[in-house]
Amino acid sequence: CGIVGIVGCEPVAERLVDALKRLEYRGYDSAGIAVIESDGALSRRRAPGKLENLRTRLAEDPVDGITGIAHTRWATHGVPNEVNAHPHIAGNVAVVHNGIIENFAELRAELSAGGTAFETDTDTEIVARLLERYRGEGMAPRDAVLAMLKKVTGAFALVILFQDRPETLYVARFGPPLAVGYGASEMYVGSDAIALAPFAEGISYLEDGDMAIVDRDGVEFCDFSGAPVSRKRQPLQLSS
Ligand code: GLU
Repeated sequence: CGIVGIVGCEPVAERLVDALKRLEYRGYDSAGIAVIESDGALSRRRAPGKLENLRTRLAEDPVDGITGIAHTRWATHGVPNEVNAHPHIAGNVAVVHNGIIENFAELRAELSAGGTAFETDTDTEIVARLLERYRGEGMAPRDAVLAMLKKVTGAFALVILFQDRPETLYVARFGPPLAVGYGASEMYVGSDAIALAPFAEGISYLEDGDMAIVDRDGVEFCDFSGAPVSRKRQPLQLSS
């Protein structure tokens, strides 16, 4: 339901939760974050219910790391609980998702027949499992994301973090809104401008059918076939 990501220069966990807080107006049933920690681990904390529960979880069991993604979930497939809360992790990839993957059941049956085990009841997990599989076959992150985008149908805003690309976020949009935010020495992604308002100086909105690769140096936009597109950078203005 709400999405935030930061490719940062400073620890991100608290800022991610603060940004989710600004998206609370959208409603949600659970929340979670995933970060690449300074020792290289891909770590996740999730909690059902209010963001305070996630804050408590993080206070008990903190994470460091300067790149991370975060999500507030409004369940469409799978009950609201910790296991079904985003981010979803498969192997070395973490995914947050707004929307619905319409063909997840067919794709899940296909992968299950090949021996893949699923941990959750969500439609979203298929995205993480497909990416895990494509990376396992030797595809580079960008190619794996493009291959996944060819398989899934439905409505999605996706933000993807690979453990072996600790300073890059891969994002894609078809339906629910998604924006890239520009900072002085950091980059951001979010489901709307309000999420990014305190950090970002500028913003570019993804259009339907856009993928973007975001790292500290900037952003590269392409379509789902990998062909470059350009998206205008606008000043970040909030209508209040
Ligand atoms: N369909 C996904 C789920 O149920 C994402 C829901 C959302 O947009 O928060 O987990």
